[in-house]
Amino acid sequence: MTEIKLVFDEPVQRKKAPKHLADFSPEERRALAVENGLPAFRANQVATHYFTHLSNDPETWTDIPADMRSKVAEIFTPKLIELVTTRTTDNGMTRKDLWKLHDGVLVESVLMRYTDRVTVCISSQAGCGMNCPFCATGQAGLTRNLTAGEITEQIVAAARACVNGELPGGEARLSNIVFMGMGEPLANYNAVVRTLRNITAPNPDGLGISARSVTVSTVGLVNGIEKLMDEGINCTLAVSLHTPDDELRDSLVPINSRFKVREVLAAADAYEKKTGRRYSIEYALIRDINDQSWRADLLGRLLKSRNAHVNLIPLNPTPGSKWTASRREDEAEFVRILESYGVPVTVRDTRGREIDGACGQLAAAEKSK
Ligand code: SAH
Repeated sequence: MTEIKLVFDEPVQRKKAPKHLADFSPEERRALAVENGLPAFRANQVATHYFTHLSNDPETWTDIPADMRSKVAEIFTPKLIELVTTRTTDNGMTRKDLWKLHDGVLVESVLMRYTDRVTVCISSQAGCGMNCPFCATGQAGLTRNLTAGEITEQIVAAARACVNGELPGGEARLSNIVFMGMGEPLANYNAVVRTLRNITAPNPDGLGISARSVTVSTVGLVNGIEKLMDEGINCTLAVSLHTPDDELRDSLVPINSRFKVREVLAAADAYEKKTGRRYSIEYALIRDINDQSWRADLLGRLLKSRNAHVNLIPLNPTPGSKWTASRREDEAEFVRILESYGVPVTVRDTRGREIDGACGQLAAAEKSK
């Protein structure tokens, strides 16, 4: 098989983001303390403040001598992301945050409160190199990979907003994390895996959130899926399939010219066997493009003996796109056909559409007022 890199070259060489404790493993964090003339346990103290208490105010780190706090914070928790704007909808239950990174690059994350959970949808790259024609993020191409620190900061900020009671309904706990914001997570493999460890490691080394509540969504980078299943993390995998036939998928998801439907499903099956996790198939329903009953039939046949769940996403509008969501009756027929094969299927809600915060709408531009 042709070798495909898991970290794609960035188009422009930039000044690197400052290093943050979230970029390192717990052992490396302790080594970093020692390199800076500090006892190793300072790293554990800062990790406790960061991951357990979600604190970004060194003045409250009272187990660290007052005259050392700002130096310790500079070494371990430099500011990586700055909130530019917040837009809300659904009576405040959905909130899209626009973040500016150290080099002025913009990314977005979306926080959603449901009756039984709070989910944050985070970005792993600024822009995206996968170029799917129906997705707003893909249209501007890839700006750069985010570091593990920059990805983790979006999650910690969301967790902090929850405990601070910033969402209506009062104090909450961040329960779910989905890598479904800007970017292709498996094209920024190392930073994403470091982030997954930050999420799942128990306090104080990480946030202690169960891997089953974490979903990595991919266009289907087979080598990335194969590598991820060996990490021992066992998060949920979602594959953006969008059509069961290679002919159409070559244009809807251009990386299909490298990894065909059969190979992608085989990799997802292997992931499921190794991790015990049922995977999701994401399928944006596009009117008269991929919503015909014969395609539902083909998808049903492909999935009927697999441990997969189909998530249908009514196409969200994106600027300049000529495509639109399927008719209600076509959507219903698509669901009916899949169910006739015994394939579990749900239709995803369109949360955040009004604020361009729904699937495929994240483009991270500062709106002119
Ligand atoms: N690159 C990863 C992560 C993005 S996840 C991936 O493709 O899986 C965002 C999900 O929303 C993907 O399934 C993507 O295909 C889907 N999506 C993109 N544009 C969309 C749109 N306009 N309407 C509905 N879903 C869309």
